[in-house]
Amino acid sequence: MDKIKVAVNGYGTIGKRVADAVRMQRDMELVGITGHSYSFRMEVANDIKIPIYVFDGENDFSQNGISPAGKVDELFDAADIIVDCTPKKVGKENKEMYYIPKKKKAIFQGGEKPATAQVSFVAQCNYKSAVNKDYIRVVSCNTTGLCRALKVVDDLYGLNMVHATMIRRGADPGDIFHGPINAIVPVLELPSHHGPDVQTVLPNLNIFTTAMSVSTTLMHCHSIIAECKKNPNVPELIAKLNATTRIRMVRNAEKVRSTAEIMELARDLGRNRGDMPELSLWEEAIGTVGKNLFYLQAVHQESIVIPENIDAIRAAMGFEDGRKSIEMTNKSLNVK
Ligand code: NAD
Repeated sequence: MDKIKVAVNGYGTIGKRVADAVRMQRDMELVGITGHSYSFRMEVANDIKIPIYVFDGENDFSQNGISPAGKVDELFDAADIIVDCTPKKVGKENKEMYYIPKKKKAIFQGGEKPATAQVSFVAQCNYKSAVNKDYIRVVSCNTTGLCRALKVVDDLYGLNMVHATMIRRGADPGDIFHGPINAIVPVLELPSHHGPDVQTVLPNLNIFTTAMSVSTTLMHCHSIIAECKKNPNVPELIAKLNATTRIRMVRNAEKVRSTAEIMELARDLGRNRGDMPELSLWEEAIGTVGKNLFYLQAVHQESIVIPENIDAIRAAMGFEDGRKSIEMTNKSLNVK
């Protein structure tokens, strides 16, 4: 079987992880990455022998001792599919500038508007709808986390209405430009964009979201109130969540009481870069009052969407069995 030839455009927080994950798939080959600007990231990519393709007029690479493999046009021509991990809105420009003229399939990230792609994607919710599509958008980290658990609750009890509050990390750990450093910054727009974004994946879900940013870099935290159609049962829900792929139950009893301890757990598990691609839910923080279900969960923003990108590549290339793709991806990345 021919391997799927994948190019990664944009080698930052998400792109470098997608590139690593592609390299771990038996059915995929990383043809190369784009080098937008010279940095330590490019030194690391060069060290691990990832071919770097540069933009016209870019010569920072050769000046710093890195020999580019060629120009980005050659990379895109050689690829079957491009995973666009550039900053938000650049993906849409790339679609028009490169992917449409070159007739190449592309995967976009959550920073792009839904209309940039034909389908917004969370593998365990709507894999089928992405099969053979040319343009797929892997939704944002927060939306992916919301969708994974809400799908389980909806399947078990039916959902009338969901209220969710996102407590978001102010910046990624390697980001020296964003904040806040000493404030809680609410999103002064209701609903926050997360609710409508969830509906691009779970269109029948009645959801209203609010959000705020806080002074942390590790993870996002979500507080969820879900009004179900039937009375939820906590032990039953815990058992079901435990049995669900890409969801990890964490427990106060094992002293995982915070996002800091979830990150420490990921490091202890020997995860690449200390990543936790599973959505983490606190077992002791699941409760009910009648038909209302309450729970708290945490999202590792840097890695939760990485397995989704791999499944999105397979779906776009016509691999029809979503369950099998999820299994292959999980096995390769050592994800539950
Ligand atoms: P980033 O800033 O860490 O990385 C972007 C990379 O793209 C950088 O290496 C930059 O040099 C490069 N780049 C900039 N302009 C480019 C261009 N025109 N062509 C090619 N490369 C270019 O960004 P990120 O955090 O990895 O985010 C990428 C996408 O993933 C965004 O849509 C974002 O919303 C989404 N996303 C981010 C996170 C997160 O927490 N970081 C989580 C989920 C989804």
